[in-house]
Amino acid sequence: MDSWQEVRIFAAGFFLIMTIAVDFDGTIVRHRYPEIGEELPFATQTLKMLIEDRHKLILWSVREGQLLDEAVEWCRQRGVEFYAVNRDFPEEDITKNIHFSRKLKVDLWIDDRNVGGLPDWGTIYRMIKERKTYEDIMHEELHPDRVYVKPKKKWWQF
Ligand SMILES: [Mg+2]
Repeated sequence: MDSWQEVRIFAAGFFLIMTIAVDFDGTIVRHRYPEIGEELPFATQTLKMLIEDRHKLILWSVREGQLLDEAVEWCRQRGVEFYAVNRDFPEEDITKNIHFSRKLKVDLWIDDRNVGGLPDWGTIYRMIKERKTYEDIMHEELHPDRVYVKPKKKWWQF
């Protein structure tokens, strides 16, 4: 590991920088594939805030070729510039990597196929910014006057 890599890892930990994969159809826009549906409320605004918070966003989509270019351009016109598209980093060349794994090496996925569905973008931002689970946020909204103490997780029950 070179020293720049160490600096980057330290900075990522200090500023809580994450690499986040973001799906397009059904997540940023309504699912109208191969058309581009209307934007989900606050999607691009939230993505811009995440970029400002220094997270690295990777567009992770089944789109290819022209359809993928259209999605990237649609986001770009709204001020969302992805760090990489359908790959781990911009220079990645999968044909030259014998250890290539199709799975992205990211900290988080934002995808409408998530179990439980996709939270609204305001909630997504709070979960990332405040490092909260969906459960934490739902509890705060149901009981804003009460401090939520998470039940301790146990592997056994007495
Ligand atoms: Mg989707």
